[in-house]
Amino acid sequence: MNRLRETSSVALRLHNTLTGAKEEFEPLEHGHVRMYTCGPTVWNYAHVGNLRAFLFYDLVRRHLRVSGYRVTHVMNLTDIDDRILDQAMHAGKTIADYVKPYAEAFFEDMAALRAERAEHYPPATEHIPEMVDMISTLIEHENAYVADGDVYFRIDSFPKYGQLSHLDRAGLKAGARVATDKYEKESVSDFALWKKAQPGDEKLGAAWDAPFGRGRPGWHIECSAMSKRYLGDTLDIHAGGVDLMFPHHENEIAQSEAANHKTFARVWLHSEHLADATGEKMSKSAGGFTTLRDLTAAGHDPLAVRFFLIANAHYRSRLRLSAEALHAAAEQVRRLREFADRLARTTPASADDGDLAERTAEVRAGYREALDDDLNLPQGVGLVFDHVREANAALDAGRVGPLNKASMQAMIDDLDAHLDVIRAEEPGLADEVERLIAEREAARRERDFGRADRIRDDLRGRGIALEDSKDGVRWRRISPTEAGRS
Ligand code: AMP
Ligand code: ZN
Repeated sequence: MNRLRETSSVALRLHNTLTGAKEEFEPLEHGHVRMYTCGPTVWNYAHVGNLRAFLFYDLVRRHLRVSGYRVTHVMNLTDIDDRILDQAMHAGKTIADYVKPYAEAFFEDMAALRAERAEHYPPATEHIPEMVDMISTLIEHENAYVADGDVYFRIDSFPKYGQLSHLDRAGLKAGARVATDKYEKESVSDFALWKKAQPGDEKLGAAWDAPFGRGRPGWHIECSAMSKRYLGDTLDIHAGGVDLMFPHHENEIAQSEAANHKTFARVWLHSEHLADATGEKMSKSAGGFTTLRDLTAAGHDPLAVRFFLIANAHYRSRLRLSAEALHAAAEQVRRLREFADRLARTTPASADDGDLAERTAEVRAGYREALDDDLNLPQGVGLVFDHVREANAALDAGRVGPLNKASMQAMIDDLDAHLDVIRAEEPGLADEVERLIAEREAARRERDFGRADRIRDDLRGRGIALEDSKDGVRWRRISPTEAGRS
C-alpha cells in the first residue's frame, strides 16, 4: 500500500556506518541539512580515486536538494601536513606558495566534473585560532596532554573510541608499550593534536603561536575545529572515503565529543575505493595514480568520467578504472543525450499512449525510490535505460503524444538532477549546429561541395554526425571512436 508521505524527504534512507544499518534520514533542524565532507590534501593533483569520493559528496548533496532540503555543505582543504612540508621544502617555497596551484587545480577539476560548489571550502591554515581553542579545551578537560612541546589526545580518556570502525580497543593497546619511549606518548595510539615547530618550519610559513608552544596543527583537529566553526557542534551528515574511517574519523569524534560534550555527527557515510586497472586501491603515495588531466589528455570526456564514477557502481561498492569502462560510460551518456534531443525534436502524435504513460510514471517513481534507498543511482539509471529502449520504439512508431513527451522529458530532468551530463552541453551548441547545417545547404545549392564537406567534417570532429532524411538534414551525436572513423 502506498501511503502519502508527509514530506518526500522522510522516505530517504541512508546507510549509517555508526549503526551499520540503513536509517530514515531526518536532519536536526527542519528542512536544513548540515553536512561536512573531508576534502583534498592539496600536495598534488587529486587522483580519480579522490574524485570518486568528491563526486559521491556531490551526489549526496544533490539528492538532499532534490528531496527539498536546504544544504549547508563544508569541505575542507588540507593545506598543511607532513607531505606538504616535505614537498615545499624540496621546492624551496613556502607551504602557501607550494599548495596554490594544486588548490586551483582541484577547483578546476571539480568544475570540469560539474560538481556543485559547497557553501564553504575552509583551508586549514586560515583556521589555526579555532584549532588552538579546541586543543586548549581538550587540555583543560584532561583529554589531551603536552609532551615536549607536542600535544597528544589521550585515547584512554575517551571510552567510546572505536565505536565507528568497531575497533578492538584491546588490540589497540597491545602494541602500546613497544613504541611509547620513542614517541614520548603515554600510549602509542594517542595521536597528535599539535606538533612542536621544527627549525625549518618558520621559513616554510608553517609555525603558529599557541599557549602550549609554537608549532602547527595535526591533521585530525582541523576537521573537528572547522566543522564546529561553520556547522556547530552537531552535524547531520559527515562523509568521507572508507580509508578515513580509522583513524581519522574516530579521532574527529574523540576530539569533538570530548571538547563539546555533544554528539559530533549523527550519520556517517563512507564511499568505497576506486581501484586501478590492476585492482589495487588508487593512492598517491603508492605512485601509480591517474588524474583527471591524464584522462582528458587521453581523449576522455570529463562528463563520461563523472558518469562512470557515480553511476557505474553503488557508492558502497568497489569500482575499477579502465579505458573500456570509460568508453562504455561515454556511450551511455551519448545515448541519453541522443534520446533527450530526439524527444525535444519530436512533434507529438495527436493522442497519448496510455500504456507508455503508465510505464513512464512507474519508471519515474522507481527512479526516485532507488535514490531514496541509500542513493542507488546505478539502479535508477538502469530503470531509465530500459525505458529509453521502449520509448525509442514508441517514437519510431509515432505513438508519443503530448503528455507522453512531457513526462519523458520530466524523467530525463529527474535523472539529470543527479547525473548532470545530459543537458550539460556547450551552451548554444544546438543553435550553432543548425546554423552550420543551413550554411552547408547553401554551399550545396551553390555547388560548392568542398565547403559543404568541410562543414560536415568539422561537425563530425566535434561529435556531431549529419544525416540526410526525407524531412531534411538531421543531426545526432556520435562517440569519439565513431567520429574518428569518418
Ligand atoms: P586525501 O586528498 O588523500 O586527503 O583524500 C581525499 C578523499 O579521497 C578522502 O575522502 C579519501 O577517502 C578519498 N580517497 C583516497 N583514495 C581513494 C580511492 N582510491 N578511491 C576512492 N576514494 C579515495
Ligand atoms: Zn576529516
